[in-house]
Amino acid sequence: MKTVPMTEAVYDYLCEHQTPLHPVLPELVSITRQRPDAGMQIAADQGVFMNQLVRLIGARRILEVGCFTGYSTICMGLGLPEGGEIISCDINPETAAVARQYLKAAGLEKKSQIILGPAVDTMQKLLTHRGKNTFDLIFIDADKENYGSYYEIGLELLRANGVILADNVLWSGRVVDAADTSAATEALRRFNAVVRKDSRVEASMLSIADGLYMIRKKG
Ligand code: SAM
Ligand code: CA
Repeated sequence: MKTVPMTEAVYDYLCEHQTPLHPVLPELVSITRQRPDAGMQIAADQGVFMNQLVRLIGARRILEVGCFTGYSTICMGLGLPEGGEIISCDINPETAAVARQYLKAAGLEKKSQIILGPAVDTMQKLLTHRGKNTFDLIFIDADKENYGSYYEIGLELLRANGVILADNVLWSGRVVDAADTSAATEALRRFNAVVRKDSRVEASMLSIADGLYMIRKKG
């Protein structure tokens, strides 16, 4: 195995050697840390990677499924050009209020929109009102049981050569633990199996953080 075993020292070193995105992000990490569900926030190195990806593929329209307090929304939003936009879906008005506050502090008030409600409904509405092939990048990071639906609708919303990023696909390694038959683990296994066999896409599973599937819709 060529992957370096991750220790806190290696991780700190890695984080010190990447370009910081915005001063509001460490502040958002510390206020989110006071919440019992703080672990849902994406990792700092993942945020910088996703920001780079937005720039590399020239994304102008981003859809996020699972906003929480807005860390990943801000990371991706900061990579957008003038006139770009990020739409983020969530069901929790309380965390969405925090996200809106920090998106504003990051200068992303005009480029971002949080839509409250079940993400499947929001995505169906976007399909009706915006049409197919209208997004460049889609980040899936909400309830694992719906990943399959987010993927299928997402593929319709995504332009050719656009990218779907799906988070937590290694699920702390539980995807390979046969004894774990919890609903979320099974859903992630099913999702990973679908992507693997899907001839509409080419996929790369990255070991960053909790596992990030990078899925490109073929041209
Ligand atoms: N990307 C976020 C970040 O970096 O901070 C973390 C997202 S967190 C893992 C998952 C979010 O999905 C939660 O905020 C939760 O409220 C939301 N969620 C759960 N079920 C949902 C659903 N059916 N539709 C939309 N959002 C949902
Ligand atoms: Ca996640």
